[in-house]
Amino acid sequence: MIRVEEAIAIIHHNSLPTNSFETIEIAKANGYILYSDVISPINMPPFRQSAVDGYAISIHDKTTYNVIDEIKAGDHHRPTLKKGEAVRIFTGAPVPDSANAVIMQEKVNVDEHIVTIESLISLNENIRSLAEQVTKGEIALQKSTLLTPAAIGFIISLGVTEVTVYSKPSIAIVVTGNELAEAGKDLVYGQIYESNAVMLTAALKSLNFQNVSTYKVADNYQETVNVLRNVIATHDLVLVSGGISVGDYDFVGTALEELNVEQLFYKVKQKPGKPLFFGKKENKMVFALPGNPAAALSCFYIYVYPALQRMSGNSTFSLTKVKAQSESNIPTPGDRAQFLKAIYHNGTVEILEGQNSSMLHTFAVSNAIVFVPEEVDSIKINDDVEVILLPIN
Ligand code: AMP
Ligand code: MG
Repeated sequence: MIRVEEAIAIIHHNSLPTNSFETIEIAKANGYILYSDVISPINMPPFRQSAVDGYAISIHDKTTYNVIDEIKAGDHHRPTLKKGEAVRIFTGAPVPDSANAVIMQEKVNVDEHIVTIESLISLNENIRSLAEQVTKGEIALQKSTLLTPAAIGFIISLGVTEVTVYSKPSIAIVVTGNELAEAGKDLVYGQIYESNAVMLTAALKSLNFQNVSTYKVADNYQETVNVLRNVIATHDLVLVSGGISVGDYDFVGTALEELNVEQLFYKVKQKPGKPLFFGKKENKMVFALPGNPAAALSCFYIYVYPALQRMSGNSTFSLTKVKAQSESNIPTPGDRAQFLKAIYHNGTVEILEGQNSSMLHTFAVSNAIVFVPEEVDSIKINDDVEVILLPIN
């Protein structure tokens, strides 16, 4: 059994970007990592732009200016201003080369064709200079940048319609368990509704991993071997749920062994999620998560999600962690680290009652997980604790 920190380090070293890349439409690129630099085909902005509604002027030493023309956004005429002349201008409109400042309309007095400027003028005020964001032919965004909505907005503002990104891993979820019934059907005595496949798929899709397939197997050795062989051959990452513990009908460990999946670790000193398995076969990754739903989801966020990010080219990814003061008294005895479901408020955190690994009712209202190292035997009100913010909104 290894410590949480070791498990995280082993995953970190073994989850490398898939060497595949693809060129995709920029509109579909949210959450991808750039595989190559984006070069700007234009200057941004492509011309000197007015940043306000007002008057573009050619500065002279008096405060009055003679308005000779008007330029609105989208216009393309280029009037020439002599010193002391102005043009009425609007936000986003091209500023003529002969103008050297734009004065906000709120700061002038207008009388027929004469504007009087009371405030001090500085050169180029309220003018967005040509190429102030990026110059044509230069790097607009460097490779390895995460494509956020803002990055997508910036790239499309340059007229670029496609980007080359790291491919996202394809993911198989395999749920094991004779007891699992599909929601919507009546439960037979002894059955429970399957929740892990649906829950993990929701988590993956919300985190921009769309390429997800689910498979179900009974607690049967040969069936487990067959399904796992197939999904390891056809996916980059396999998430198994259940069947990895020590019961007589837990066949996942032996099946993975038969399939020559190299075990990188099995069992972590943590609660929940002790029987977590991580292994690989060539460049294919396998996580076997405990079947208990809260343990499965906790392991997903702590271990699988960072691995997926790294496989997708996000080499600097880390979960968002903050320090907060506990609002709760919680005993945490034993020799395992704990991940406790919690609600983070601004600077404080409420650790919830009902931490059992089978319990989703507390996870369902959590927005954070409190990490308690194995050495700590209790959390008291006002203690500083480490909070992992869940990537759920
Ligand atoms: P296991 O890890 O297979 O021993 O399962 C541990 C517990 O989690 C048992 O109570 C199972 O019934 C439950 N469980 C396993 N898989 C699922 C699943 N996909 N959805 C809901 N509960 C599950
Ligand atoms: Mg089971």
